[in-house]
Amino acid sequence: MKDSAPADQNAAELQPPGLYIVATPIGNLGDLSPRAARVLASVTVIACEDTRVTARLLQHIGAKTPMLPYHDHNADTVRPRLIARMGSDAIALVSDAGTPLISDPGYKLVRDARAAGITVVTIPGPCAAVAALTLAGLPTDRFLFAGFLPVKAGAKAAAIAEIAGLRASLVFYESAGRTAATLAALAEGLGDRPAAVAREISKRFEETVDGCLSALAARYAETPPRGEVVIVVGPPPPATAPDATTLDDALRAALGGASLSAAASEVAVALSLPRKAVYARALELRGG
Ligand code: SAM
Repeated sequence: MKDSAPADQNAAELQPPGLYIVATPIGNLGDLSPRAARVLASVTVIACEDTRVTARLLQHIGAKTPMLPYHDHNADTVRPRLIARMGSDAIALVSDAGTPLISDPGYKLVRDARAAGITVVTIPGPCAAVAALTLAGLPTDRFLFAGFLPVKAGAKAAAIAEIAGLRASLVFYESAGRTAATLAALAEGLGDRPAAVAREISKRFEETVDGCLSALAARYAETPPRGEVVIVVGPPPPATAPDATTLDDALRAALGGASLSAAASEVAVALSLPRKAVYARALELRGG
């Protein structure tokens, strides 16, 4: 295990060599943290998805740091060169918006930097997934960030089926044009759960609409949303307890081929019931 020590200084001095993961605004430039601005102004070079987008951010903070494109199409070629430079240079990674690596390039750069013993520092900040979760009014104690679902209907349904049983809120990125179809697929695959669509977060037309998945699907089929969209879906409702006959039938079947303890464990897991209660009922059945 290697430690990455946070190390940023003031803009006048160059940052020490290493990789700096810098989160940038998802709409409102005021959300760029002072520390992020300071680091962007004082690294040797900024690896970015689109130099035109990052140039606007640099203009906003009055910095003239050189930029170097790093995106899905050139990453395999550019990555080894960046890693080689990190031994002597401070290199920042930004994406077009939000936190790099979150549905954006960067994971392999961090992996290879760590493997090469390079210091990796993160400058945390905006992330649409977490921002949407805070807006949705749905449980936040457990959530799964599922990124973008596949576009094709079959693959999308399969990806949804894979996570349908999770007892957690689900967070999806989606393009505006596919929002209605994805909401309908989610309603089909998950049941009509409570959900929210957070749109244009931190921008002028920010809006969060909540409702059940089928109602949201109908709303956005009629009036497609504009701008950028995150879909948050609540966890499945708690399973209803099986009735007494179901429990007894399951226990009798299990007791036929196993010890009382093993039968109780097997049935408790199968019916999602507390093992203690199932064991007590198994004892009664065996006694009777
Ligand atoms: N790395 C970014 C982050 O930290 O959120 C996400 C990049 S991903 C390529 C772009 C997707 O993020 C969009 O399609 C949308 O789902 C979501 N997104 C980005 N900005 C948003 C905003 N201001 N409001 C709502 N969703 C946004």
